[in-house]
Amino acid sequence: MRKPKIVVLGAGYGGLMTVTRLQKQLGSTDAEIVLVNKNDYHYETTWLHEASAGTLSPDQVRYDISSVIDRSKVDFVQDTAVKVELETKKVILEKGDELSYDYLVVALGGAPETFGIKGLDKYAFSITNVNTARQIREHIEYQFATYKVDKKPERLTIVVGGAGFTGMEFLGELGNQIPRWCKEYDIDKEMVKVVCVEAAPTALPGFDPELVQYATALLERKNVEFRIGTAIKEATPEGIVVAKGEDDTEEIKAATVVWAAGVRGNPIIVESGIENMRGRVKVEPDLRAPGLSDVFVIGDCSLVINEEINRPYPPTAQIAMQQGELVASNLAKLVQGKTNLDSFTFDNKGTVCSLGDDDAIGVVFGKKVTGTKASFMKKMIDNRALYMIGGIPLTMKKGKFNLLK
Ligand code: FAD
Ligand code: NAD
Repeated sequence: MRKPKIVVLGAGYGGLMTVTRLQKQLGSTDAEIVLVNKNDYHYETTWLHEASAGTLSPDQVRYDISSVIDRSKVDFVQDTAVKVELETKKVILEKGDELSYDYLVVALGGAPETFGIKGLDKYAFSITNVNTARQIREHIEYQFATYKVDKKPERLTIVVGGAGFTGMEFLGELGNQIPRWCKEYDIDKEMVKVVCVEAAPTALPGFDPELVQYATALLERKNVEFRIGTAIKEATPEGIVVAKGEDDTEEIKAATVVWAAGVRGNPIIVESGIENMRGRVKVEPDLRAPGLSDVFVIGDCSLVINEEINRPYPPTAQIAMQQGELVASNLAKLVQGKTNLDSFTFDNKGTVCSLGDDDAIGVVFGKKVTGTKASFMKKMIDNRALYMIGGIPLTMKKGKFNLLK
């Protein structure tokens, strides 16, 4: 009898949790498992703000996919998925190949959501992958170096769009890195301007106000200027246009604009005609796409409703990894001919937001934490993600051990 073929798209948190659990639960005679990813490495999306600010090297935030998969059970295909043909059950790959599947797991992560704001695609950077992180760091350093030649003040202005978790974590890293760059490029720290523009009436909307206050005060001490209740309306070659209210617009001249104001699902979801909201699929309780019994969608491509407040859970690595575990066990059941698939329940362990590698804020198991304790917890969470996928060897190789900084 032909073995069922499981194709997993994306080797991020969701995809690698699925594959590493599947390879434990299924023998090589039970199913054919194929993992497709753009690169031959996985990157820790949750550490990209550090690579973007240059506080971690790009190499530190990634590892070889081959180091965590069992090649006797999993075929790895390095290619970019462009579309899923649902009718014929095929994935179209960029290099021209087609991959047929019996079961598909879409775990391709998110893409920046620009809400159609003019110029953002062209003139703003986003913290999306290792390449964009490298680009941001290199770009800022180039601006600092060039300032010494032409003295244009806008070279030393960095705008961060959005004071969500990504924006705040990036600002925390910048706060620590800018003094080092100033020293390296002989620049007076006072000349550097970091402006964070947030449309909502507060930074980190929805998060504990006392912790938000702690974070903004800390970042302000590191020379971050917050423009709260102010929205980015346009990005231009010179900087951005912001507005407080309808007519009150202002131009901020800046050589660096980093858009960190939201994510949507991977474009392949829309391209493939899967029912979605902003590229994210509101999945069934067993994590299948509505009406598609052979397609599971997890991570940033999926949308799971928090029934308590009737709103979607924010897309996080935490939820993507838990979904990966459940999808693996549901797939193992299907392969074994069982039909009683389990439903997904999110076990929210809390949220910690780093503010550089020496400070953080968070709510963990319902308790508020700040400072070194919170920073310690953030690093433990980062290390746990490595451990869950690659065990002790990966944790020892890539883990964060400056725990009490
Ligand atoms: P990802 O982990 O992003 O992986 C997607 C994979 O798919 C990547 O390997 C990518 O290369 C690959 N891929 C993409 N498109 C294609 C294609 N067409 N073909 C082939 N391969 C493709 N969440 C937390 O829980 N805690 C945090 O502290 C946290 N910090 C964050 C910090 C930053 C700076 C950012 C940006 C996000 C953070 N998040 C955090 C959110 C978290 O990173 C995401 O929710 C999580 O990465 C989603 O996991 P995923 O498996 O869906 O996708
Ligand atoms: P987000 O959607 O959480 O925050 C985006 C912010 O941008 C919001 O505060 C929003 O009001 C603001 N914004 C939107 N449009 C704007 C505009 N035109 N001008 C100015 N501000 C605007 O996005 P994110 O911070 O990128 O986070 C994405 C996901 O990743 C979230 O689910 C988040 O929880 C998760 N994440 C978690 C962590 C962590 O747990 N430490 C860190 C980073 C990201």
